[in-house]
Amino acid sequence: MAAPSWPPYFEASQNLLVTNRILLGGFANYYQSLTHQNLSLEEAKERAKNTEVKGKLPQADQVLNYLAWSNSVEVLKKVGRKTKYHLKKLKIEKVEDLLFHFPHRYLDLRRVVKINEVKVGGEVTVVGEVKEVTRRLTKKRFKLIQVAIFDGTGYLKGVWFNQDYIATIFKEGMRVAFGGRVTFRYGQLQIENPLFDILGEEKEGFHTGRLLPIYPATSSLSPHRLRKLLSEARPFMKVPEIFPAWLRQRFGFVSRTQAFLGIHFPQSVEEVAEAKRRLLFEELFLIQLGLAMRKKRMEIKEKGYAHQVKGQLLNDFIQGLPFELTTDQKRALEEIKRDMSAKKPMNRLVQGEVGSGKTVLAAAAMVIAAQAGFQAAMMAPTEILAVQHLRRISQFLKHLPLKVALLIGSTSAKEREKLLPAIASGEINVVVGTHALIQEKVKFKRMSLVVIDEQHRFGVWQRFRLKEKGTFPDMLVMTATPIPRTLSLTLYGDLDISIIRELPQGRKIAENVKTVLCQTQKRRNWAYEKVREEVEKGHQAYIICPLIEESDKLEAKAVLEEAERLKNQVFLDLRVGILFGKMKPQEKDEVMMSFAQGELDVLISTTVIEVGIDVPNATVMLIENADRFGLTQLHQLRGRIGRGGYPSYCILFGKPKTEEGKKRLKAMEKITDGFRLAEEDLMIRGEGEIFGARQAGFPDLKIARLTRDVEVLVEARKVAFELIEKDLELTQPVNALLKWEVKRRFSDKLDWLFRA
Ligand code: ADP
Ligand code: MG
Repeated sequence: MAAPSWPPYFEASQNLLVTNRILLGGFANYYQSLTHQNLSLEEAKERAKNTEVKGKLPQADQVLNYLAWSNSVEVLKKVGRKTKYHLKKLKIEKVEDLLFHFPHRYLDLRRVVKINEVKVGGEVTVVGEVKEVTRRLTKKRFKLIQVAIFDGTGYLKGVWFNQDYIATIFKEGMRVAFGGRVTFRYGQLQIENPLFDILGEEKEGFHTGRLLPIYPATSSLSPHRLRKLLSEARPFMKVPEIFPAWLRQRFGFVSRTQAFLGIHFPQSVEEVAEAKRRLLFEELFLIQLGLAMRKKRMEIKEKGYAHQVKGQLLNDFIQGLPFELTTDQKRALEEIKRDMSAKKPMNRLVQGEVGSGKTVLAAAAMVIAAQAGFQAAMMAPTEILAVQHLRRISQFLKHLPLKVALLIGSTSAKEREKLLPAIASGEINVVVGTHALIQEKVKFKRMSLVVIDEQHRFGVWQRFRLKEKGTFPDMLVMTATPIPRTLSLTLYGDLDISIIRELPQGRKIAENVKTVLCQTQKRRNWAYEKVREEVEKGHQAYIICPLIEESDKLEAKAVLEEAERLKNQVFLDLRVGILFGKMKPQEKDEVMMSFAQGELDVLISTTVIEVGIDVPNATVMLIENADRFGLTQLHQLRGRIGRGGYPSYCILFGKPKTEEGKKRLKAMEKITDGFRLAEEDLMIRGEGEIFGARQAGFPDLKIARLTRDVEVLVEARKVAFELIEKDLELTQPVNALLKWEVKRRFSDKLDWLFRA
């Protein structure tokens, strides 16, 4: 293995040095002096060795390897433009990406069984030559692919269903390995969906006699090729330990180098397990360190106001409510009070389904701010929601001597002229609004509370801009999106969380709603009949058509066509309104308002209808192509109905093409609890899907599975927060590499983490 040439290292170390000179315990400084001398890699290593302070600093070559992680894969032998291009499809661009491309399984080639010794029912690995590849349709119209291999003692077939590409992988004469459980069908030995590998014409030994890692691959980069690339990258696995000694001792972790070698080149199953245990912990630990640092930093730097929470105003507020708070609400309120009375700023997320009573809590927090002589601001993602919040909050506060105002994009210039000075003078106690709130011109006198609704709809900077209008105000974030605990610990790991699970009595929304899956034309007619029936009872209906094409034009067209059809052919005699994304905000608001006021019977819409919108009179929802939605989204849509306590119907149209899709719709029929659905969603789809594209900013997990690794996550979180408590900025030399690694892996994901 020829060592890579100097320039890439040079670049990396430059980078590292510029970013943080004292990192690596001053080691980097030394390298800087080397880079100035334009030495070859060998020379640099040699010099470094001579000046190394034994025991204190990592080995020079290890550091150089580590620095090289950020170089392009091109530094590896046998990686040219073409391979680089193929690797990019697997999101492998840098050396580190390759090292973190972990096998998803292993084929045990240490005990290859001869085909004539295979026992039916047993788990085996067999190796042989491909003799025949056949594809045919079964009676049930499955595509059946069979690959027969021969090993000198007998024949065995690998069998796949509906996986056409398999047939293109195998060619007669190839040497391959199959692994899996053996069955005996139609007079022949076979393995259904075997683990497989193409052994190629390699000399014996490279593949046989070991645990063969199988990598997630593409059609142009086989697991076989990936294994070769990883052998090329093997030297780069020799890197410094980033964990402090006590941490490794406490959990008995193998070293970082051992972990990478163990997962890519294992000698035994145990070695794989130990490698995974270390890498899994490491991944979650690093994220939690980042979150802990961010949280701690905020707590220390931001000197918040310690509100006096006992007061007449708050008492009056609670007394004046037309209902008693639920147990969950009471608990959340206690938590809010505790946070607001503390010197450090509150960072609390209140999670609860639509209608669970979060707005009352926001109002209570506002009252706490007001009774201390401060102002409060609440930001919602859309005008409709802002208006709705304003109405509710004014209602809650109406018997208190507080002034509430609305500031949204469509607030007229004339009104603004009056409003802005009143906010600046402190005359107005509570301002509810949209992004309009963060405009430069909006100034508060003394603002100590920021409430953010549906925070995932805002960018981080928007939250910060609003917070900057006060002096380290307390922040209360509300979300109706149920997030499983594992996700909230990673996603919002620096926020404290209050969860409202029970809904106010008499408003068991989910239980009012019956969910039915419809797949035939007959059922469609039944559904339309249902709509008509409900409208005749004086209720209202939603019909949701998802965005079919990417383009807005097509979306609009699809909805419009469907709307026209329904309007003119199906619901001729009903009042039908249409809502879609391309409409002007004002038009949207108008349609929404007239639906809310009962001037429309049926609202046909894309998914733009708002999560928080409340029309208690709506009792039916038809969702077209329901299989295109995620569970969480379906559940939120469904949350629009049944709010008035009437029996309601959520009718899902759609023929899922995948198993996954079927499971999802089944889950919708069965499960009514949002949190349970969210967990189910996570199980069915895997967190990558949910948070990969949609939730930008979610750290890219290489080995952890949040559905599976809850315990490790909780442990890693505990240790990380303990460590940050002792070394806030990870400035102690023993922690320098940890810090570097957090930064290297997650700084772009944990926004603002390393802004300072
Ligand atoms: P969310 O903001 O979570 O969607 P809201 O705070 O708007 O929910 O509450 C929904 C409805 O339930 C409102 O009409 C509110 O007045 C009412 N509500 C809230 N808390 C209670 C309670 N403890 N008992 C009865 N009704 C409640
Ligand atoms: Mg406070």
